[in-house]
Amino acid sequence: MFERSLFHSEHEMFRTSVRKFIEKEIAPFHAQWEHEGIVPRDLWTKAGEAGMLCCTIPEEYGGLGLDYLFDVVVFEEMARSGFTGPGFLIHCDLVATYVKSFGSEEQKKYWLPKMVSGEAIGSLGMTEPHAGSDLRSIRTKAVRDGDDFVINGQKVFISNGQLCDVLVLATKTESLAGGKGITLFLVDTSLPGFKRGKNLEKLGLKAQDTSELFFENLRVPASAMLGAEGEGFKLMMTKLSQERLAQAIRSATVAEHLVQLTVDYTSERKAFGKTLGDFQNTQFKLAEMKTEAVIGRVFTDHCIRKFIDGQLDEVDAAMAKMWLSNLHCRVADECLQLFGGWGYMWEYPISRAFADARIVKIAGGSIEIMKHIIGRSLFSASRSSERVGSATKSDSSVAAGKTLGQAVA
Ligand SMILES: Cc1cc2nc3c(=O)[nH]c(=O)nc-3n(C[C@H](O)[C@H](O)[C@H](O)COP(=O)(O)OP(=O)(O)OC[C@H]3O[C@@H](n4cnc5c(N)ncnc54)[C@H](O)[C@@H]3O)c2cc1C
Repeated sequence: MFERSLFHSEHEMFRTSVRKFIEKEIAPFHAQWEHEGIVPRDLWTKAGEAGMLCCTIPEEYGGLGLDYLFDVVVFEEMARSGFTGPGFLIHCDLVATYVKSFGSEEQKKYWLPKMVSGEAIGSLGMTEPHAGSDLRSIRTKAVRDGDDFVINGQKVFISNGQLCDVLVLATKTESLAGGKGITLFLVDTSLPGFKRGKNLEKLGLKAQDTSELFFENLRVPASAMLGAEGEGFKLMMTKLSQERLAQAIRSATVAEHLVQLTVDYTSERKAFGKTLGDFQNTQFKLAEMKTEAVIGRVFTDHCIRKFIDGQLDEVDAAMAKMWLSNLHCRVADECLQLFGGWGYMWEYPISRAFADARIVKIAGGSIEIMKHIIGRSLFSASRSSERVGSATKSDSSVAAGKTLGQAVA
């Protein structure tokens, strides 16, 4: 049987403490938070006290300066628990990482200690009502006015949007320059002109707040800019692989967990004088899913190692996200089937897991966008081989003045 070799005893001790935290501080309350559509703020400060937020932030900015695997432990244990309310992953893996990587000394000193303690909650504001996959088309405008920028526009589907104190906000500083006109700001959400819209009702992730956000003459100092003017698209692209890896880690963990949950259930549940687990169909289904969950885990661990070594490229990250997201959804569906009618009841974790799964094929880059990235890489590789005289070009596409690869991309 495959054994993971990534983690050391310190990571495993930390894993035990994260599990205890989830059992004590999240499990008893999560159903209530699902009704409320949000988790309480004090959960964040408790998680901060437990050392679960932004583990990799250096000590000089209030963190513990741990390695990335400590963050991975938190993502995995949250995924295994099935409690999807707390938006820790976005806060730690995305927002804090943006500040750590691209922030000025002043921004890091101001925001990171508060993000580690859970006093300040982070959100990432990219998507707009008319622009999700196509981020170059965002319209939220930031216009320079002396030493300030004045921001007007709107975002949608923003995780932690009701709670956030600090927002990495993608804006256009030059509306006709496409990706090159995008600039990021680190916005303090207590400023006048920042407005929260509705907490949106969703198919799953019921306890996680997801919001519309509005900016009405929101004035920020130029020092709130993250990175340089016009550099925002490039910065977002450099961090997307990390986000996709984190999503693959979550999906790999959920797939493993759901298989085990279903083995446990079908070992007990009886029909026609046998347990469900005695039926060949049950065993075959679970055998297939278990095998794929192990394959997914091996590839995910390979990507984690590459990421730690600074070698993870966007194609590997896209493959991991695409494959693991598909597996996650398929396992949730097929496991639910083995629970019969009980699987459709909200009180059963498999039912929630099914509803929560669907988002993974959409957010953080959809399955189609992942295919686009992978496919483009195949054809750019074949274009390089054309330059050295390889016969990889399709004849008909040569006639059309285009490779088939260009046609699909
Ligand atoms: C619960 C939830 C939480 C989210 N959290 C955040 C957040 O915190 N911050 C944030 O900024 N955003 C967030 N999002 C937004 C999310 O990232 C977008 O929904 C996603 O990127 C897809 O964009 P879209 O919804 O505009 O769909 P569209 O871009 O309109 O896509 C619709 C469909 O068309 C397909 N498509 C688009 N372009 C192509 C193409 N070139 N080729 C083939 N197919 C294509 C897509 O794959 C998709 O299937 C969240 C969304 C949800 C639902």
